[in-house]
Amino acid sequence: MKDKIENESITNIVILGSTGSIGRQALEVADKHPQRFRVIALAARDEVSLLQEQVQKYNPLAVAVSDPKAYLQLKEKIGGQCRVLAGIDGICELSSLPEVDTVLVAVSGAVGIKPTLAAIRAHKRIALANKETLVAAGDIVMKSAREENVAIIPVDSEHSAVFQCLQGESSYLKKVWLTASGGPFRNFTSEELEKVTVDMALKHPNWSMGPKITIDSASLMNKGLEVIEAHHLFNVDYDLIQVLVQRESVIHSMVELVDGSFLAHLGVADMRIPIQYALTWPGRLESPARSLDFTSLAKIHFDQVDDSRFPCLSLAYGAGRAGGTMPAVLNAANEIAVSSFLNGKIKFTDIPGLVEKTMGKHNLVKDPGLEIIFEADNWARETCQAMID
Ligand code: MG
Repeated sequence: MKDKIENESITNIVILGSTGSIGRQALEVADKHPQRFRVIALAARDEVSLLQEQVQKYNPLAVAVSDPKAYLQLKEKIGGQCRVLAGIDGICELSSLPEVDTVLVAVSGAVGIKPTLAAIRAHKRIALANKETLVAAGDIVMKSAREENVAIIPVDSEHSAVFQCLQGESSYLKKVWLTASGGPFRNFTSEELEKVTVDMALKHPNWSMGPKITIDSASLMNKGLEVIEAHHLFNVDYDLIQVLVQRESVIHSMVELVDGSFLAHLGVADMRIPIQYALTWPGRLESPARSLDFTSLAKIHFDQVDDSRFPCLSLAYGAGRAGGTMPAVLNAANEIAVSSFLNGKIKFTDIPGLVEKTMGKHNLVKDPGLEIIFEADNWARETCQAMID
């Protein structure tokens, strides 16, 4: 077995979002298996000093930053050592470098759409950690992947779980069961939710993640975005995607098959497992994550989501069912609302209302092209921001 693993050829990976939580954990996975992974390009938004450290350590062929000021700083610091590219075009260029086998898309937000499409067109395998790409442009991205015969392997833990359960079983799928931890405020009353602070919302009970997704987990918008993501990844109707609160985050999701069998994916809540699987699929490698201890776990709880306290989930189902530009609007309005909450401008409980009002003002476009989606995204940001101001 060990020989087989060592004989597998090297996978050249590019990490888009290398300074973020998923990007850093992906580098840990690469560190653990230097015989299997070579990091050949890195991209980030503006964290110059961490990116510089990563360049010293991994010696990539090229790096890209989307922020123009960061580009100038980085160019000055490491320009002699490797190619430095700028902006979204630079990030798209990294995704299509001829040396690249797999592109890990781990940037945060709708900025992931163009590099994902560029990687698909260049026939790279996609390890997709950026759910906004599928939420805003799922129809276009999945169609392009089918046409180019490119595999999109989900990194999001729930979708990785479903994807793993469906290996060899996808034609028997009846229903997708996405699990949710319920977030840190699962048991809060509506009055308590009104008083939630940024610090409280940033403490997720089970998972270690970046700030945007941690707030989304607390509001359950994250689960809503994941429902839309699952619809696109697994080609299932919204009526056949069920969300279940599983507060210990031990069952990472399940599939129900036509014969009444349920397959579940269990493990510790450690993102390095789904990140690594997306890079090794259909094979597996040893993981730095610890094993699951069932005796200390003792109990697994299941609950329903309370829509009245956590309205974001049903807003997302609504946007998904409406289709067209609506999921992009939901996502963009939510990004603005979450960043305003993080900056102390609005209350935690203002988030769903702002998203709902933005959706209510939107003139839906069915079957939009990419430009129309970006227009709707921009419109939603401006509309939501205007309401906050
Ligand atoms: Mg998830």
